[in-house]
Amino acid sequence: MTRRVLAAELVLPGGDQEAVPDGAVLVDGDTIADVGPRDAVIGRAPAGTPVQELGAATLLPGLIDCHVHLVFDASEDPLTAFLAADDAALLPAMVGRAARLLDAGVTTARDLGDRNGLVRKVRDAITAGDIPGPRLLSAGTPVTVTGGHCWFLGGEADGQDAVRAAVRRNLRDGADLTKIMVTGGTMTTTGPRPHQVQFTAAELAAAVEESARFGRRVAAHVHGTEGIEAALEAGADTLEHCTFASAVKGQPAHKHELIDRMAADGVFVCPTFSSTLDSVARERGADTIQPYLDLVRREYEAGVRLVAGTDAGVHLATFEGYAEGLLWYERAGLPVDAVLKMATSEAAAALGVSDRTGRIAPGLDADLLVVPGDLREDLRALRDPLLVLARGRVHVPPAAAERAVLRPQEKVAP
Ligand SMILES: [Zn+2]
Repeated sequence: MTRRVLAAELVLPGGDQEAVPDGAVLVDGDTIADVGPRDAVIGRAPAGTPVQELGAATLLPGLIDCHVHLVFDASEDPLTAFLAADDAALLPAMVGRAARLLDAGVTTARDLGDRNGLVRKVRDAITAGDIPGPRLLSAGTPVTVTGGHCWFLGGEADGQDAVRAAVRRNLRDGADLTKIMVTGGTMTTTGPRPHQVQFTAAELAAAVEESARFGRRVAAHVHGTEGIEAALEAGADTLEHCTFASAVKGQPAHKHELIDRMAADGVFVCPTFSSTLDSVARERGADTIQPYLDLVRREYEAGVRLVAGTDAGVHLATFEGYAEGLLWYERAGLPVDAVLKMATSEAAAALGVSDRTGRIAPGLDADLLVVPGDLREDLRALRDPLLVLARGRVHVPPAAAERAVLRPQEKVAP
């Protein structure tokens, strides 16, 4: 891997760092070596370093998808397709899905549930440089109750001891974190419903305690209010979905107190907005989505740490549609800079990888994304990534290559 300067009319280093008009980034192999005003970066770069002029484009940190499932195909009925495929058929399909995440500018993705350690195989092949793809964090097989949400992935455990053993096995086998199904979910039509809690408080506490012993985090799948309370009580690190699903019409009376508690605890919430919402809006009307948008806006205003994740792989949540999910946060009324933090620096904090990615800063991995124009003016530019660097490896999305939109001018630093 080589040294190069990428220069663009706008660099958004991310986090709390100021935007840099006419900025540049020096990449050395797989690492960011420098960032700042264009002339200063070129002046500090070793003589002879190639300079790629990106022109009217925005250079920002690579995006982070906090919630994907490489084993699912994002079709109308991902479960049937999954159950019909053996591991030998699933693996190459998963490799293709990882590449599509990269096409969308996603340079880090957290997979929250597979079977038989398949994601770890993809993760390790990407890390070794054998195949293209984002940095993957794998939860392995989610812990659930017998017959509970996603039981078919193989992670059934009942009782404290069994939960501890399931967590330990997963982490021993190389999972990066624990995923626990605190409530039922929509993909599993039998077993507990989304508003119902699956585990006892003691079982949830055992899962968090065992993970902590391994130095690993816990992602909690939660829909209903009781599940949210139980996950907070147990000390889960991230709350997935967090829809406040209820068995009865209307919202629970203490919903606002619970949101305030989420903010006070500093727990990360991943509302999993995705391209699925576009199809829901088309089929059932935008009004059906409004309560979810209002909820996320209320959480944002209360100071809840929100992060972006798409649940890519489930019903119509596409691997190339990361931008569509972000646009829904904007429609919910969140400012553009807050939405971008959800996708970069805050997501990195939630995943425990802030020391590697999520911002453009010297010493961090060269995870970078280039999109046309000024991204602050129009988030839809994220639909058209021109260039992606994943740990320094250059990836030109096929759509960009076909349109030949990127015609870099190369110069050399004096
Ligand atoms: Zn999921």
